[in-house]
Amino acid sequence: MHPLLVAFIVASLVWEGFTLWLNHRQADFVRAHRDNVPADFAAQVSLADHRRAADYTRARIALASARGIAGVVVSLALVVWGLDILAGFTGSVAAPWGDVLLVVAASIPGPVVGLPFSVYADFVIEKRFGFNKKTPMIFATDLLKGLVLQAVIGLPLLLALFWAMDHLSRFWWLYAWIGVVCLMLAAPFVYLRFIAPLFNRFSPLADDALRSRIEALMQRCGFQSSGLFTMDASKRSSHGNAFFIGFGRAKRIVLFDTLLASQTQDEVEAVLAHELGHFKYRHTLYGMIRGAATAFLMLAAYGWMCRQPWLLDGFGFHHGGNALGLIAASLVLGIATPALTPISNWISRRHEFQADDFARRMVGADPMVSALTKLSRDNAGTLTPDPLYALVTYSHPPVPARVAQLRAAAA
Ligand SMILES: [Zn+2]
Repeated sequence: MHPLLVAFIVASLVWEGFTLWLNHRQADFVRAHRDNVPADFAAQVSLADHRRAADYTRARIALASARGIAGVVVSLALVVWGLDILAGFTGSVAAPWGDVLLVVAASIPGPVVGLPFSVYADFVIEKRFGFNKKTPMIFATDLLKGLVLQAVIGLPLLLALFWAMDHLSRFWWLYAWIGVVCLMLAAPFVYLRFIAPLFNRFSPLADDALRSRIEALMQRCGFQSSGLFTMDASKRSSHGNAFFIGFGRAKRIVLFDTLLASQTQDEVEAVLAHELGHFKYRHTLYGMIRGAATAFLMLAAYGWMCRQPWLLDGFGFHHGGNALGLIAASLVLGIATPALTPISNWISRRHEFQADDFARRMVGADPMVSALTKLSRDNAGTLTPDPLYALVTYSHPPVPARVAQLRAAAA
């Protein structure tokens, strides 16, 4: 047997088994607490809201489990048979085109198998709970635009990467990393200027009273923004949210129209103060530095592994080439990297607590508590997650923990 192939199969099954077990725990825990609204929330969340959140959470968990199983089946089939067969076809195409072709071919089955799950998520689950506003037409055009964007952006990058592997020294990965860092710096601008407008309409915030409150808040926080916009998120979903994007002077604040429709001005201000907290504590900057460092380590590992004779042999591949080498290296990294997700989630949750605390100091605990409670209620987020599930998978702390922190700090 081929040692890396065995390791990959075992790791895939172990990780998937662990995920299914966690999902099962979460579904059980939520069901067990379905009929009792936590005391802290009884005033704002009705029993019907609480049950709806429980049912929504369980429906999504069940779908995630099914999707995860399908994903593992596809990836194992690709690794055990598919990749080598595909490489046999693309090997006859001259480099770097053959390499690009192999990466493209290998990345098709996953999304194709995932598509029915996305359709089910939007048109069955989201629809049943009243969130989905997408028409089949919007769903299809979103999909098509996404594919075109991937081709327009991805293909030249892949070509450049494989050209670099063929023509630069064995330090090609260092050039690739410089390219990745440049992309990370350019991404917010490219996204705002060229990509986001393909999907949504952004208009300057029209409500003058809210605008002047937000501008005063930004001034108090020392935040310079190049614009305050609303986004027509309601054409796809009634889930509410807000974000800011960009850095330097070109920062933009975007409020979903769905958020403005459901929250009071005090609450919108609290949500924004939380977002400004991320800026104040440089969470975006640290995130980018972490991303650049991770990319460096991964690319260095790719660069080293691609030169090792055991890499392709270890998977029992009969073909060679840069693309198959890169894919094999990413499979090796995939054996261990799921273990890192809980760490990045833990960092992210600490940042959320810090941003909440910043918002509390800026606008007070009450509007933040009621904004969080309302967001959780309106988005049908569960107030009673399984503690272990939340510890491993949540990028945001459970709302009861956030509310408890806000209340404790205010007291
Ligand atoms: Zn946040």
